[in-house]
Amino acid sequence: MNAPERVERPNPIRALGLLSGGLDSTLAARLLMEQGIEVECVNFHTGFCIQSHTGAMRNPKPGAEPARHDALHAAGNLGVKLHLVDIAEDYVRIVTDPKHGYGKNLNPCLDCKIFMVHKAFEMMQTQGFHFLFTGEVLGQRPMSQRRDTFPVIDRESEAGGWLLRPLTALRMPLTEPEKLGWVDRERLMGFSGRNRKPQMALAARMGIRDYPSPAGGCCFLTDENYARKLRDLWAYRGARAYSMEDILLLKAGRHLRPAPHFKLVIGRDEAENYFLSGFVEGRTLIKARDLPGPVTLVEGTPSFEDLTLACRIAARFGKARELPEVTMTLESAGCKESRVVKPLAAHEVLEDWHV
Ligand code: SF4
Repeated sequence: MNAPERVERPNPIRALGLLSGGLDSTLAARLLMEQGIEVECVNFHTGFCIQSHTGAMRNPKPGAEPARHDALHAAGNLGVKLHLVDIAEDYVRIVTDPKHGYGKNLNPCLDCKIFMVHKAFEMMQTQGFHFLFTGEVLGQRPMSQRRDTFPVIDRESEAGGWLLRPLTALRMPLTEPEKLGWVDRERLMGFSGRNRKPQMALAARMGIRDYPSPAGGCCFLTDENYARKLRDLWAYRGARAYSMEDILLLKAGRHLRPAPHFKLVIGRDEAENYFLSGFVEGRTLIKARDLPGPVTLVEGTPSFEDLTLACRIAARFGKARELPEVTMTLESAGCKESRVVKPLAAHEVLEDWHV
């Protein structure tokens, strides 16, 4: 979409922003709102969002306080409409085969940004927005927020000059909404680098005090432990592929793989036990009978003997480990059975089982 030679000034001017709920995207929205631009925002659900996981983990009991969703919270504070868009299905190809590769772990940040901006650009064209904006700051993230990657995002997302980055605009070429006089460049910022003091000062000037800590990550793909578990899943599946259930299960529990064809996921607290109990379909769920202890899920193709070993491992991680023998219950495909096993001793749980 190229800028027409003569464009009437729309009234109102409508901008669509990518809102994570962090400080930067909130500030970017406010800078445009202060210019009288009508702002709406979009937040994309990829399946790897840490917040959706912590929400599930923190609410094991019905009636508990719902966990905060940062983007919804920020949109509420800004007083703007938020579009929540689930892109998890299409996002699989971004994670499994990123054209621009991965960052430090399995985070395909550049492909991810291109994909999200492209999705937002489609919304812009079909829903009557005049341009897009993000809270990106030059030099803030090593993989996607660089002088050489911004043009790649603009080009490959097809958004071109219709993507404005209000926090760093003074360091960037003019965008179409600036050229057309829809946005006053003088009132935009030229932030760069990882120092967040300028953003915090701007937030204070705008009276924004309620924002999440920048240190808190938002995406499991940047997490080293999570990336290791996802790599293990791909290695033993023999393919770079995953289902929604797979990626949810990688977020919880202690993972042990005693043999290539089966894996145990062992709950580490009450919330994880509750969470794992919801994934029994297609797996075997093991618990100690009449004793407190973890819920253990077994997935893969375990034999009868493998399941006995799984019971002995599961017993090791609960109160049952203090007993010479314990009765474990196994539930799968609607069938229940019990086995009396001897809990494994600490030295029998091999280090290389831990994923
Ligand atoms: S951290 Fe995750 S959500 Fe953020 S750009 Fe990278 S891959 Fe995408």
